[in-house]
Amino acid sequence: MPELAFFSGTMDCGKSTLALQIQHNRSARGLMGMIFTRNDRAGQGRLSSRLGLVTDAIEADERFDFHAHLVRHLTAGGRVDYVIADEAQFLSPAQVDQLARVVDDLGIDVFAFGITTDFRTRLFPGSQRLIELADRVEVLQVEALCWCGARATHNARTVGGRMVVEGAQVVVGDVGARADVGYEVLCRRHHRRRLTAAAAGAGPLSPDVPPADGRPPRLGGTAPGGPA
Ligand SMILES: [Zn+2]
Repeated sequence: MPELAFFSGTMDCGKSTLALQIQHNRSARGLMGMIFTRNDRAGQGRLSSRLGLVTDAIEADERFDFHAHLVRHLTAGGRVDYVIADEAQFLSPAQVDQLARVVDDLGIDVFAFGITTDFRTRLFPGSQRLIELADRVEVLQVEALCWCGARATHNARTVGGRMVVEGAQVVVGDVGARADVGYEVLCRRHHRRRLTAAAAGAGPLSPDVPPADGRPPRLGGTAPGGPA
């Protein structure tokens, strides 16, 4: 049975690396994949991983219709055995519905990869729709780590080095062009306290920076302003 599978996690959890691995394994078996992405860090029409791997992909912008595209391709005599959709958090709910139709009506496996929640800890619309529709949701096991060493479960956005919790969900054409915008993965506790690595490094909470009086650092102790 073809399926719609959603591989989810935080930033830095290895989603794109797994997408490329699935593509490699299947093409090595002679299967034909069609790869889509949006706003990949490597630019338009590219799917890349932080480990340096990259492959060509079809850029699926907000007007793109996955189902219609696949139907056109198949009608023209093309072959597709599976579909990979990376950066799926950026898809609209309607586009995720199209992916479900690709599975159900065309009998093609769809593997979607995406970040679950944004920097405000809210579900991306595309990820929400995938959780609602997917036959299978996998939380990736390659764990990103917070600066404190705990499992990083949340994405933080920084502007000018300070963590922010308000603003547009997607900063289009962002990080490269706007060097003041950055992202960092944190555990929930440090996300709630808005304590990024840089902010923690400036104070006595960092495990690497002992306080000036020479006492051992208090790992994960009280945040500035009071106890947790
Ligand atoms: Zn932490």
